[in-house]
Order: sequence, then structure tokens, then C-alpha cells
Amino acid sequence: MVRRLRSTAFDPVTEESTAVTHPFLDLPPLSAAHFAAIEDRVARLLDTRQDVVIMQGEALLPLEGAIRATAGRGTVALNVITGPYGQTFGDWLRDCGATVYDLAVPFHTAVTAAQIRDAFAEHPEIDFVSLVHAEAATGNTNPVAEIGAAVREQGALFYLDAVASVGAEPVLPDAWGVDLCVIGAQKAMGGPAGVSAVSVSERAWARMAANPRAPRRSYLSLLDWKERWVDAGRKALLHAPAQLEMLALDACVERIEAEGLATVMSRHTSAAAATRAGALALGGGLEPYVHQATEAAPVATTLRAPSGVVASELVARALATDPTLPLASGGGALAKGMIRVNHYGPDATPDAVQASLAALGAALSEKGLAVNLEAGRRAAEGGWR
Ligand SMILES: *Cc1c(COP(=O)(O)O)cnc(C)c1O
Repeated sequence: MVRRLRSTAFDPVTEESTAVTHPFLDLPPLSAAHFAAIEDRVARLLDTRQDVVIMQGEALLPLEGAIRATAGRGTVALNVITGPYGQTFGDWLRDCGATVYDLAVPFHTAVTAAQIRDAFAEHPEIDFVSLVHAEAATGNTNPVAEIGAAVREQGALFYLDAVASVGAEPVLPDAWGVDLCVIGAQKAMGGPAGVSAVSVSERAWARMAANPRAPRRSYLSLLDWKERWVDAGRKALLHAPAQLEMLALDACVERIEAEGLATVMSRHTSAAAATRAGALALGGGLEPYVHQATEAAPVATTLRAPSGVVASELVARALATDPTLPLASGGGALAKGMIRVNHYGPDATPDAVQASLAALGAALSEKGLAVNLEAGRRAAEGGWR
């Protein structure tokens, strides 16, 4: 919301100032009250009564900040790996001096609450659990409600990366007992990538306060925001806020409220179901990467390239026909075999799904594989609920 344009340009000929109406520049500083109102708006989106702290950076900032604040030498962590982010969290935890037990499950599946309980039985001293809710990079989603119940029984602190799930499926930190719930706006929320948020429970604040190695007077510090912002009544900001990103975040949550969160989530669920059904009916050897539909993330659908076909080459062919399609190949070692249909945010639409399937079908056909474009189209249409 651009309320006021302040800046003017000076014309040396007329000696008059002329108003500049650039939409991104010349913004007044974002007030503390507006900043607090955006935090409240995000808290409503998450249906949480915990403190929501907005951090001025991509989601990796609160993801790293929350681990460094709560983990230390005495921490015994269960780090669940269902994709590339879990790997990163384990590295941070070890770097903090924590004892880390990795629980890795194959990327084509999800972790179960029973597996988490088994890990607790084996290592009763576990007092921290890190988990990624949904993985856009691998296309799976984990049953956080059930896992949260197990973590509560254990009494461990529960850290959740909900960047790829928020807006695509329910994210309920209070109901699930999540102590640190990190979100970013750049996926299903259809918002900016440069600003993110974390909801923090009282237990998590206490753990940070007791951690001598928690970052303080640092850009990574959550405690700085607790002491100088939250506890001080949210009157004065710690530094000049990133106005563009904050305004974009505000606008993006406002747009979700206008459409209705349930409707936004149902667009994502439908896009995932339609992509899965369409890809199977298309043929050509294309298969859903995540075996069980119930374990497939609504935010993005991953597909396994047919044998003999390199996923990154197939995606490049498809993108050559239309570079705006939400297609990518898997990252790193997954580039050879995995195709990602990133049907999130503005791409959670029937058109984006159909166009993606049609382009993949055409690229497969070019490779000499038998595809049925019309069957794929109809299955995707029927799969959209
Ligand atoms: C996208 C995503 C992030 C944020 O990382 P970027 O790739 O920089 O957008 C963090 N966690 C998960 C699970 C994600 O899918």
C-alpha cells in the first residue's frame, strides 16, 4: 500500500520541484505500528497466539537464527531428513555443538510418527526435533499433527520449516505444539522472497534465554527482537525495515484473506491432484516421484523421468516452448531423474497445470515416447477438485 509519495525532483530550469511517482521508490519509512500490524496479520494466518517475529531476509535467516538460538552443547537433536533442507539443519545443529541423530527417509516417501517415536525410544535424551513440513524440492509432505503429538509426549522442542506448506495446506503451530514455526511468503503464499517470519513459543524463548551461545546483537538474533521489540511493546524497530518486502508481505496476506485461506489451499490441493492424475494418464513412462498420493505435497508435484530420459533435458525442451511454465528439474543429484511442477502461488491454476503437462507431453513425444496428450488433459481436468 503506497499511501504517500514524499520525494520530489528539482527542475533547475523552472526551479520548481516536480513530483516523482515511482511505485517502488520514494516510499515513506514503514512505521513500527504498521510493522506490528503485519506481524499480527501473519499470526492470524497461522492461527497462533505465539509471538510472531518477522525477519528481514529470505526464510533461511529465521531457519538458521532459530537453530542457533535454541541449540547448544547440551542439546540432543533428532533431525528428520526428507529432502535437502533437513541436511542443512543437521549441519547447523552440529555446528552449534549439539548431538544430532539424523532420521533420513527416502525422498519418495514421508516420515511417520511411529518412526519418530522409535527414535525417542532409542535415544530418550532427545530434547529437540527439527522437521520440514513439506518439501518443494522433493515433493513430499509430513504428518505434522501426529508427529507433534509424539514430540509433546517426549517434551522436546519442536522446530518446523513450513516455508513450502504455508498457504498450500494447514499450518497450525498452536494446535500441533510447534515451538518454532518458520514461514516464507515466496511459495504458496504467492508473495515476496526477501522477508520471512517465525512464531516462537514461551518454551522456545526460555530455551534461548538460557543458551549462552544464542546470537545476541546479531542479524541472526531472535533474542534481540524479543528483548528490544516484543518485550518493549513493539514501539521502536531495531533497524530501518525493508519497506518493499514488508509492503509486499502485507499485500500478499491481504490477498490471501480476500480469496480465503481455505480457497487458496484448495487450489494447491487441486493442482497437485490434477498434475498427478494428468501425468499418469499422459503416459510415456512419466510417474509420480512420491509413491503415495497422501504423502505428496500440495505445493509442488515431483515426477520421475522415464528411464533413458534426462529430466533436466526434458524440462529444458518444455521450457523452450514457454519459459513462463512453472517447471524445473530436481536440484543437484536429482537433476537427472526428477521433474518438478511448481504449481504454487499464482501457478496453482488449471491453466498452469494443463500447460505444464502439455509441454512435458510434447517434449516426451519428441523423444519418441508414446504419450496420450488428450488422456492427460482429461485426467488433469477430472483431477481438479
Ligand atoms: C523454498 C524453501 C525454503 C526457502 O528457500 P529458497 O529456495 O531460498 O526459497 C526453505 N525451506 C523449504 C522446505 C523450502 O521449500
